[in-house]
Amino acid sequence: MSDPRDVTILGEPATSHRPADPGHEGKGEIHLVHMYPREMSIYGDLGNTRCLAARVRRHGYVPVVHQHHPGQPFPETAHLVVGGGGQDSGQAKVEEDLERHADRLRGLAADGAAMLMVCGMYQLFGNAFVTVEGQTLPGLGILDVTTQGNATRMIGPVVLSTDFGDVVGYENHSGSTTLGAGQTPFGRVRHGSGNNRSDGTEGAVSGHVVGSYLHGPILPANPRLADALIGWAAEQATGRDFQPAELDDEVARQAHARQVSRLLG
Ligand code: GLN
Repeated sequence: MSDPRDVTILGEPATSHRPADPGHEGKGEIHLVHMYPREMSIYGDLGNTRCLAARVRRHGYVPVVHQHHPGQPFPETAHLVVGGGGQDSGQAKVEEDLERHADRLRGLAADGAAMLMVCGMYQLFGNAFVTVEGQTLPGLGILDVTTQGNATRMIGPVVLSTDFGDVVGYENHSGSTTLGAGQTPFGRVRHGSGNNRSDGTEGAVSGHVVGSYLHGPILPANPRLADALIGWAAEQATGRDFQPAELDDEVARQAHARQVSRLLG
């Protein structure tokens, strides 16, 4: 019996998954893993997994969604790993489990698995997060970033310019993140604070691993970013080029355009 705190995604029980019925594999199965949805999804970032699962299905693939909770074995198959935001206390709660799966996650990243880590999980995929109280939470070092908590928080709407076009979202973090030499940022700030309110960068990207402070959740209003992650995952899952379907993203386009024009005029 799954825990009542679990949430279903696309109507499927969260902690189990339903592989495709024989003959209905579509273009292939894509396994999504959402890490710590109970502890690390305080700003609705579970919506990213819901968005990805829906878009995977609309592109003609079969989404197989796993929720990973502390203490559980990590799913055997993972093509797309997602993590969301959390309070400092939530990050401390998942530290031990994250360390337990550190080698597996580093291996998945090195092998090209797609990953989207938002805010608190972005910080923990870096080298370390030192909280405002001075507690050091070691990170996985998959992204070469280091974060220091502050007394003041960086809160508000954000517009970035990125390789995936303008990206819109919302930030709420005390952490100031600095990029290591040679670490590529996810984007450049056009409106908002970004990594540290001083160097004009936001997030970080290494290979197919994207880290960002943007909540919203970030993916529904940024379909180009969502499809980039799905494309990387589809190629991992099938060994073939991504075969996207033509999707009607008019609602997302309007939401995106409204945010950009509201913030940039
Ligand atoms: N607790 C971290 C901070 O305050 C991350 C916050 C978040 O995930 N929104 O910076």
